[in-house]
Amino acid sequence: MNLLKGLYDYTRLVFHRKYYSERKIKKYNKKQLKKIYNYAIENSSFYNELYKDKVFKTMNDFYNLPIINKKIMMDNFSELNTHQLDKDEVLDYAVKMELSKDFLGYYKDKFVVGLSSGTSGNKGLYLTPKEMTERLPFVFLARGGFPLRLLPYNILFMLRVFSQGFDDINSKIVSLTYLSTMEEIDIVISRINDLNINILMAPPSFVRQLIPYKDKITTKINTIMTYAEVLEEEDKIRFKKDFNAKVIEIYQASEGQMASACKHGYLHINEDLVFIELYDEDNKLITEKNVIGHKMVITNLVNYAQPLIRYEMNDMIILDSKCSCGSNFRRIKKVLGRHDDLLYFFDSKKNKKYIFPDLFVRWIIVTSENIREFKVIQDEINQISIHLDLIDISKTDIGSKLDKKIRKELIQFDIFDCVIDIKLAEIKLPKEKNKYKRFISNIH
Ligand SMILES: [Zn+2]
Repeated sequence: MNLLKGLYDYTRLVFHRKYYSERKIKKYNKKQLKKIYNYAIENSSFYNELYKDKVFKTMNDFYNLPIINKKIMMDNFSELNTHQLDKDEVLDYAVKMELSKDFLGYYKDKFVVGLSSGTSGNKGLYLTPKEMTERLPFVFLARGGFPLRLLPYNILFMLRVFSQGFDDINSKIVSLTYLSTMEEIDIVISRINDLNINILMAPPSFVRQLIPYKDKITTKINTIMTYAEVLEEEDKIRFKKDFNAKVIEIYQASEGQMASACKHGYLHINEDLVFIELYDEDNKLITEKNVIGHKMVITNLVNYAQPLIRYEMNDMIILDSKCSCGSNFRRIKKVLGRHDDLLYFFDSKKNKKYIFPDLFVRWIIVTSENIREFKVIQDEINQISIHLDLIDISKTDIGSKLDKKIRKELIQFDIFDCVIDIKLAEIKLPKEKNKYKRFISNIH
């Protein structure tokens, strides 16, 4: 990893978010979209075929390009990537890594391979060039609003991808150490202390795992930066209090770095890294705030190894008005979670109704500070099963408290009787390195 490259990225990214006007963003987007579009046509036989009757001159042309999704991407993986990598070989490699817990470095010494499991069991394979992944912390720093005047930064970056072949950075102004989220907690704590870590970058589910051990941390963590999962407001408050640190969020998925928090703590879309189209329930492009995005179509503007152009994701977000920080990057009001994670109930008139997962998260988290992790499973409409992992297992009354809380909240939605089954059980984070899923719905 080259520190200079990192600092260059940092400066560029800070400049974009701070000074780009709406017009400049549009112009920049169009230029980058054309660049990846042309590259894909030349280097990916999948896109070459897909776009053979298409032109891309105006943005309208772009909006008329076919939309792809995870299934199409996976079905055509070998033809879609621009390095002639064979799907079965990459998948074999990824699964082997997952099972062996043995971190062997990069695939063909060039790529980080990410594996995500979908709700319907279809796995997604994501390639990130080694160089891009190594530069990621500087993207995070730039987008986390870290001023360079607060140097030196001693960063611990908890990674969920397989490779541990990253070169740590050891300079006077920035030291950066990578650790796997699968590492034993004791080891993580001693690394934090030994390295005098002041910035911790980790997924929220991992930060929650650290809470019971917080008193063992002897160094002063100034900032916790979360990524990979939605950071709930309640978690944010709790981390802030428990670690006495500033807590900021990066909204990142296997498909790209979607958004990151500004200095005022609001999430802004990373308009220079991804191009995001949002559509409402009637499939109309959203340009206004406060409309629920039921469909999100993204184009990753920076990953040329596996171009994702007009790729549909099922994340649901709502846009907000312009932020007081001055940036023209669109501000996100709320990440509602994934469309797959909606929970379904019958109201008093026997109509099927959905509840957003973020509401459930809130209801569960506010019930007790003793809940370390949880899982919500739905196999049938009107029935849910919740697993609670408690910090102090002697406090068994939490189950009935939560049952009461959920029923009370559901009444607001005209939902009166449903089956809620609450179990207290230890929840282990998944052995495979993909995202921990709090919601498992088997209703489609
Ligand atoms: Zn802002």
